Amino acid sequence: RKPQFSLHYTARPTRLIIDLDKTAFGFDEKELAAIGLFSDIRYGQMGEGVSRIVMTAHRPIKAVIAEVQANDPGKGFRLVIESEVVASQDFAALVAKQTWAGTEKIAGGKTDRLGTAAKPAVTSGFVIAVDAGHGGIDAGAKGAVSKVEEKTVTLAFAKALVERLNRQKGIQAFLTRQDDTFISLSERVVIARQRDAKLFISLHADTLRQKDIRGATVYTISDKASDKLAEGLAERENLSDGIAGIEIKDEPAEITDILIDLTRRETQAFSIQMAENVVRSFKGQIDLINNPLRHAGFRVLQAADVPSILLELGFLSNPQDEKLLTDPDWQNRTADLIVKAVDSYLESSGIVRGG
Ligand code: ZN
Repeated sequence: RKPQFSLHYTARPTRLIIDLDKTAFGFDEKELAAIGLFSDIRYGQMGEGVSRIVMTAHRPIKAVIAEVQANDPGKGFRLVIESEVVASQDFAALVAKQTWAGTEKIAGGKTDRLGTAAKPAVTSGFVIAVDAGHGGIDAGAKGAVSKVEEKTVTLAFAKALVERLNRQKGIQAFLTRQDDTFISLSERVVIARQRDAKLFISLHADTLRQKDIRGATVYTISDKASDKLAEGLAERENLSDGIAGIEIKDEPAEITDILIDLTRRETQAFSIQMAENVVRSFKGQIDLINNPLRHAGFRVLQAADVPSILLELGFLSNPQDEKLLTDPDWQNRTADLIVKAVDSYLESSGIVRGG
């Protein structure tokens, strides 16, 4: 049927954004090369009922044609966008005067999901937010051999983990995303806080240029990265919102002086305790990288009052890790070890779980 679409631009980087109703994209990857004015093309599901195409341009551009044209009768429609280079000041004016009517929901990271995901009336038990990294238009890393996408790996693992956590008495775990949908980093934090999470676990499986590095890493937040590897990884993770074409507006400023207030300091102590418990639980069972406890400025770990860890389960750039990450047996075994870590975390920090 005839597609409805809206067109927007963002500056830094220069992007042309096409929002559509929920769309099943059937692009042939080989046909979808970013050429000419464009350096990158991504597409995927954004929020409820919204899909998006994000095209990054080398230079300031403007769509001179943007319309839906009818194909031969009975052959559907095609969306035609034709762009040309414009002067920087013209592009700046274009960005400044546009409105995002109807799309603030996804653009600002405040979606209807938050309304519907309101707190349950009675929270019984220790609530844990399990956050499957990436999703929708942000596919994350790609497997070295199978080309499996990180967003798929993290969601499968997150589901296995939630199921296992919920088998534990006094624990209530939930997913920040249930399907292949994009959620901004700050929204993940908001969802966790709205549902009164007492622990936040973000799951990832990224890639590194050094293909021989393998094993799990556990991260906590810090304004200063523990090392180069952590710093680079946090930098790439924090790009997620940019990939989706979101302009970061009312985000808190840079993650600096993160440990100044007492709540943060207390939260941080709990985060580190949880991270240590995961490493202890993995030791001898699951491969860990050298110095598996690391820290960096991950935006997704920024809740001041929810102890948070980011768990790199392994690296999709390493073929052996890739094999394990996509193996349901390994996923279940590893999820069991995280459950064990949560148990000992609760015990060691004297937290009383619910009924
Ligand atoms: Zn990731």
